[in-house]
Amino acid sequence: MKKKLVLGFFLSLFAMVLVACGGSKTAKETETTTEAKKEEVVSGASEKSYTDPKELKDSYDVVVIGSGGAGMAAAISAKDAGADVAILEKMPVIGGNTSKSSAGMNASETKFQKAQGIEDKNDLFYEETLKGGKGTNDPELLRYFVDNSASAIDWLDSMGITLDNITTTGGMSVTRTHRPTDGSAVGRYLVDGLYANVTERKIPTFVNADVTELTDKDGSVTGVKVKIAGKEKTVSAKSVVLATGGFGANMDMVTKFKPELKGYVSTNQEGSTGDGIALAESEGAATVDLDQIQIHPSVEQKTAYLITEAVRGEGAILVNSKGERFVNELETRDNVSAAINGLDPNYAYVVFDNALRGRVKAINQYVEKGLVVEAKTIEDLAKAIDIDGATLKTTLDTWNKAVADKSDTAFGRKTGMDNALSEAPYYAIKVSPGIHHTMGGLKINTNTEVLNKEGKAIPGLYAAGEVTGGIHGQNRIGGNAVADIIIFGRQAGNQSAAHAK
Ligand code: ADP
Repeated sequence: MKKKLVLGFFLSLFAMVLVACGGSKTAKETETTTEAKKEEVVSGASEKSYTDPKELKDSYDVVVIGSGGAGMAAAISAKDAGADVAILEKMPVIGGNTSKSSAGMNASETKFQKAQGIEDKNDLFYEETLKGGKGTNDPELLRYFVDNSASAIDWLDSMGITLDNITTTGGMSVTRTHRPTDGSAVGRYLVDGLYANVTERKIPTFVNADVTELTDKDGSVTGVKVKIAGKEKTVSAKSVVLATGGFGANMDMVTKFKPELKGYVSTNQEGSTGDGIALAESEGAATVDLDQIQIHPSVEQKTAYLITEAVRGEGAILVNSKGERFVNELETRDNVSAAINGLDPNYAYVVFDNALRGRVKAINQYVEKGLVVEAKTIEDLAKAIDIDGATLKTTLDTWNKAVADKSDTAFGRKTGMDNALSEAPYYAIKVSPGIHHTMGGLKINTNTEVLNKEGKAIPGLYAAGEVTGGIHGQNRIGGNAVADIIIFGRQAGNQSAAHAK
């Protein structure tokens, strides 16, 4: 059977599987329509069924806290390694920030790259990530990350999650950002595919389950305290995996570590409050790089909606309020953000054409949300966004010549130059930087064990994904967070299951 069909088959099996899990309710049954709508906006996740709180047992081999990509990858691999696993998610829907991720998953030396004649090397992926992170990335974590990226792509593919449409984001010389076949945003596809696998394995998933404390005995973590269905319950576990995401929605924490971000919008879902950091710190965990908070250059400010870097990766340009380019659009995120912040006024327009819209399916979401200005000609577009038409026309003509010549003499851009911007209608989205990703977090080793201040593993405590720090250094490359959650989430599942034996 084809993989796509397998995935479709899993999705259609949801109802049956959940009945088998016992007593589950749909989100629709448990929430009012208004709340459900709000949750949809908050998380971007599609409607799903979850396990009834009554099913929560007193004890598991592995408890996974958080249901984003890292949590679900951990739960699946722990289950496949023979562990009895449960997922606890504090929000009313699963998916976390993962649901909102758009660009793709970076990986090198993959079978899909090879099939498409793309030459890449793990060492190059390593070097470019290190350069992007200003040389401050944890070298051991980074080595593990690049060396296990291709097998993570294979692992997803084996579960019906196929990322074979490859594009570019800022800070890479080779096409290595893997997306769903139709070029759509990676997040929802990934969350749906992982959750299909979670339910297929009958891994119970509890939502509205807020973990407030870790329990311990003789220096080992022994379980969690969770608020669920109006009660607090202690659940013991041989291993606990923290997959609670970052703290980009916790403005007190953000401004504590980076005061200059006061007043910025945040692209984060509201559950990204840094709980995992506090939980682990209470067990003596060390942290790294908490002041390294990434702002993303292209965020629509009224909705805090992120405009994926893949739009630029597929060929869009950025223009200032005069209609002129001002930066290599595929510089790293920190540099592009700084360039926009240096403008007066400090906003830019992402400008693209109809052909590009066809290549980046996420744009349909932006159109649906009313974020996109559309016009039949470049002059009309300029008028609609209050820019001088002749200037914008000259900018596009110059850019299209640079694409044809494969030489951007103005800003030295080298990627995302395969297609001219010449097919009407034309589009523009107004953007400025927004808080996006917390690169710092818990210190872990390559076994995803959480380390204490002496560099020793805290027995029974594992962490993966945005809650951890070190992998990205001082600037994360777009597409590396999805790679991080899958590669280290998978490892956390294996290691936590082994520890539970
Ligand atoms: P990652 O990308 O690292 O997987 P995500 O943001 O996608 O991170 O997912 C993290 C999930 O963890 C979110 O859905 C968030 O609501 C959940 N979470 C955060 N804190 C807690 C907590 N204290 N108890 C249960 N779930 C939590």
